[in-house]
Amino acid sequence: MLLDEPTLNIFFAIFLFAFGACIGSFLNVVAHRLPRDKSLIRPRSHCPSCSAPVPALGLIPVFGWFLVRMRCQNCGVKVSWVYPAVELLCAVGTVFLFFNTLSPAQFVGTLWPEAALGSQLGAMRFQPLIAVLTHLFLFYTAVPLTLIDLEHRILPDVITLGGTPIALFLGGANVHLGWQGAVVGAAVGSGVLFFVAKTYEIIRGREGLGFGDVKYMALIGAVVGWQGVLLVLGLASVLGSVVGIFLGLRKQAGLQTALPFGPFLAAAALVVSLWQPLILNFFFGDV
Ligand SMILES: [Zn+2]
Repeated sequence: MLLDEPTLNIFFAIFLFAFGACIGSFLNVVAHRLPRDKSLIRPRSHCPSCSAPVPALGLIPVFGWFLVRMRCQNCGVKVSWVYPAVELLCAVGTVFLFFNTLSPAQFVGTLWPEAALGSQLGAMRFQPLIAVLTHLFLFYTAVPLTLIDLEHRILPDVITLGGTPIALFLGGANVHLGWQGAVVGAAVGSGVLFFVAKTYEIIRGREGLGFGDVKYMALIGAVVGWQGVLLVLGLASVLGSVVGIFLGLRKQAGLQTALPFGPFLAAAALVVSLWQPLILNFFFGDV
């Protein structure tokens, strides 16, 4: 190895933080423009109030917002703190999801087995890499879906349906799941939620769950498998109920103003993807 391990870790952490912040910056654009049917590439970022282009300093992820002192330099309108918060979340999340799954030394060993000591060879070699890509994929789809669902109450097909083939690929490449496991997971995920949504609609006479949620569950099921996707549904329902009751009590808004379900599915999917073996062990003992 050219570098000792602590130095390698620091390099990786800085790179992943910067990479995650840039992804976050792009996901902000996705969350803002996708529901408005605008191009993701052109024009460059501009002030929503006066349309002045954001200066180069302001485009720097996370820090740009502080550098322009939280305001548009042209008209002085306040820039929402949500943008830097999303970038920071993506930066920290990327570092966490990577280091939680594998060490930089393992990563180097996966790509260049000759370069590292004690690297695994054979079919299992790429498994940690697949796991990290799966976590990041779930995270990077969860962020714009959550932002869009909170603001517009939709989960765009471009992300849910568009992401499902990638999810099937990642699930298929996971030896614990395989191609069949990924397909069954997608079918169970969307099937169960479709059944719940239809039943609710028939009993209550109005739509309680959007079909965006049904499509999103196919994406989630493909990477966590059928047991995982049932856990996701259970966990998301519990989270949704707790938050719903909390908001209902606080605002007296009543639960009729249905909460969007997407953000809870997103959070639950990440938790299950990261800790599924632990959760299954907790409920069902050693399996
Ligand atoms: Zn402006």
